[in-house]
Amino acid sequence: MSATISVVIPVYNEEAGLEALAERLYPVLDALGRGYEVIFVDDGSRDRSAAVLRQLFERRPERTRVVLLTRNAGQHMAILAGFAHTRGDYVITLDADLQNPPEEIGKLVTAMDQGADYVGTVRARRQDALWRKAASRLMNRIRERTTQIRISDQGCMLRGYHRTIVDAINRCLEVSTFVPALAYTFARHPVEIEVAHSERAAGKSKYSIYRLIRLNFDLLTGFSVVPLQFFTMVGMVVALISLAFVVVLAVQRIFIGPEVQGVFTLFGLAFFFIGILLVSVGVMGEYVGRIYEQVRQRPRYTITAILEGEPPRGEFPDTTSSPAVANPDHRSEGREQASKVNPALDHTEMLRAEHEPGRTP
Ligand code: UDP
Ligand code: MG
Repeated sequence: MSATISVVIPVYNEEAGLEALAERLYPVLDALGRGYEVIFVDDGSRDRSAAVLRQLFERRPERTRVVLLTRNAGQHMAILAGFAHTRGDYVITLDADLQNPPEEIGKLVTAMDQGADYVGTVRARRQDALWRKAASRLMNRIRERTTQIRISDQGCMLRGYHRTIVDAINRCLEVSTFVPALAYTFARHPVEIEVAHSERAAGKSKYSIYRLIRLNFDLLTGFSVVPLQFFTMVGMVVALISLAFVVVLAVQRIFIGPEVQGVFTLFGLAFFFIGILLVSVGVMGEYVGRIYEQVRQRPRYTITAILEGEPPRGEFPDTTSSPAVANPDHRSEGREQASKVNPALDHTEMLRAEHEPGRTP
C-alpha cells in the first residue's frame, strides 16, 4: 500500500483565503490516489477563521481534522500542535495563504517515495516585498555561517517530513523553535527541490519586523551558540588591542611627557565599545530569556477543541489516537487544559467531535 499523507496547515486570521485554499487543496490530494488527512491548526484567530474551518470540516469530515488552539502560539508552535495529531506516513506543511501552491505537493511526495526523509524547498521567483527578500538573504547567510543547518531557503514552509522525523520532533519539548531546522537535525536523507511561489491570495502577512527578528533569534539561539562565542572572541581581541594601547601610552608618557590629545577620538572609541557591550549583553539575554521560558515548563500551547471524524476504514493504523503518544507530555499538553475549560463536560466527548449532527461541540 502506498504511503499515506498528512497535510498540516497553521491558520491565523486567514478567513478570506481558506475557501480558496480548500478548493485547490482537496482536489490535488484526491488526485494523488492515496490515503490522506488535512489538519488545520487554528492558532487563536480573532476573525472568522475557526468558523470557516468548521464548515470545511463538515464538508469533508473523513479527511479533515481541526485543532483549535486557545491563544495565538505562533506559526511554529501551531505546526507542532498539528504534528502531534498527524497519522500519515508523510507529513507535509503548507501555509494557509496560498503562497505555497498545493499543486506542488505531488513533487514532495515523489521525492519522499524515492527515499528522502526530509524534503526542503527553494522558492523559485519568490513573490514577496523587496525588503523581505533582502532580509531573508542576509539571514540565510548568517544562519549558514553560524549553525550546522544546511537549508537554502529557510523561509519556505512547504516541506515534507517522514513519519520518523515527525515522531522525533514530537518527542522534543522546545518552547521556541524553528520546525524546518529542527527536522533537519534528525534527517538522514535530506533533499531539496524547487517549488513555485505566489503572492498572498488574501489578507496580510502576519509577520511584523519585530516578529521576524524574534523568529530569526529563535533559529539562531535554538541551533547554535556561535553568537555567544563571537562576542567572547570580540572581547578578547579588544582586550589585546587595549593592552597594546596602554603600553604605547605609558612609553609616550615616559619619553615625551604628559599631553592631552585625541579626547574626542577616545569618546568615539568608548561609545563604539559600549555599543558592542550592549549588543553582547542583548545576545546573552536572548539565550537567558529562552532558558527562562523553557525552565518554567508551561504548556507551549493549549487546545480548546479538536474536530475530527472517522477516516475511511483501515487507512491509518490507529484512528483513535495520535502517534504522539510516544511522548505522554504531548497528549497532556493541550488535552488536560481542554478538560479544565469546562470540567462538567466529559473530556473525550468534548474533544472528539464525531461527525454526527448535533454532537459537535
Ligand atoms: N501563522 C500562524 N500563526 C502566527 C503567524 C502566522 O499560524 O502567529 C500562519 C499564517 O496563517 C500562515 C502561515 O503561518 O498560514 C505563514 O504566515 P504569513 O503568510 O503571514 O507569513 P509570510 O508568508 O509573510 O512569511
Ligand atoms: Mg505568507
